[in-house]
Amino acid sequence: MKNFTYAHPRDIPSALGTVARPGGAFIAGGTTLIDVWKLGAFPASELVDINELSLRGIEASPSGLKLGALERMSDVGSHPDVVKNYPVVSQALLLSASPQIRNMASMGGNLLQRPRSISYRNPDPDQRDGPSRFDAIFGVTPRSAAVHPSDLAVALMVLDASVRMQGPQGERVLKLSEFYQPPQKNLNFFTLAPDELITSLEAAVPFARRSAYVKIRDRASYQFAVVSAAVALDLDGGNIREARVAGGGVGTIPWRFPQVEAALKGQAASLQTFQSAVADIGQGAVTHSQNAFKVELLKRTITRALIQAQEIV
Ligand SMILES: Cc1cc2nc3c(=O)[nH]c(=O)nc-3n(C[C@H](O)[C@H](O)[C@H](O)COP(=O)(O)OP(=O)(O)OC[C@H]3O[C@@H](n4cnc5c(N)ncnc54)[C@H](O)[C@@H]3O)c2cc1C
Repeated sequence: MKNFTYAHPRDIPSALGTVARPGGAFIAGGTTLIDVWKLGAFPASELVDINELSLRGIEASPSGLKLGALERMSDVGSHPDVVKNYPVVSQALLLSASPQIRNMASMGGNLLQRPRSISYRNPDPDQRDGPSRFDAIFGVTPRSAAVHPSDLAVALMVLDASVRMQGPQGERVLKLSEFYQPPQKNLNFFTLAPDELITSLEAAVPFARRSAYVKIRDRASYQFAVVSAAVALDLDGGNIREARVAGGGVGTIPWRFPQVEAALKGQAASLQTFQSAVADIGQGAVTHSQNAFKVELLKRTITRALIQAQEIV
């Protein structure tokens, strides 16, 4: 039994004040925190339950997406406006975890979930993962090759989404591409101070209606991605005006592919275009004998997602 204190503040200033105490940590759905905390890999002694804070709201019109940090995965994933205007987000969420976990798990907690690897889940800081077929092929650092597990974060990458945060110094907004950084000196991979609160996730991509998420996993449900792809296409008739492409299960952080996006831009939307755009995606990948298959799998997963997005009427 681990001793801890439990606070449930009613407003953001009290929550920020309480979490700033030694051992303070926010808890939302608790579906990740309790796991790692029980293992001893998350040194919290004061849990600050944020569920009574006003961090709700789902806005998903064609002109913009705004998700309160406490909205649950199931509510966002099945919201009619998200399904219609942001299919990539809805699909990524509904292909995640299990219905029970999705009912509990929040938007903010999802982005902050720890990788499912020994080094992130063992209290001994010297414990490292051995090479495995799940290892990342992009953003690998001497500190970690563990893949980032969030499906939602990959979907939000193609929407160029931002994270809104509130801390003792006030509010700040960071693009997801700045929020996540491959782990360098320690196992930290996001730009969030321990006493900062995520308040919402926001995006504005006018062509998000034509977007898709494809997830390849070892089992058809309740399983993390071996490889996944999120795409969004802006079509002008049969031509690609703009494309967004990101991958999951391949990076130590959600990984965007600007070179694939550039290769797609201005081309006819066809299988041949899609295959040729991903042909060199393995350049720069760090692979070993167990995870090298991910390069080919990634090409095929992105191609499938692009076809899926193209077929949206
Ligand atoms: C068996 C299993 C299978 C899963 N499968 C998948 C999957 O396929 N795909 C996938 O994407 N995910 C999967 N997950 C992960 C799941 O999505 C996360 O556990 C969940 O989204 C975390 O949200 P939460 O609200 O429960 O976070 P919590 O556990 O409450 O918190 C997680 C972390 O975020 C911090 N935190 C929470 N909210 C905030 C906030 N607003 N501001 C600042 N810090 C905050 C907490 O302090 C903690 O460090 C799985 C989890 C389990 C247990």
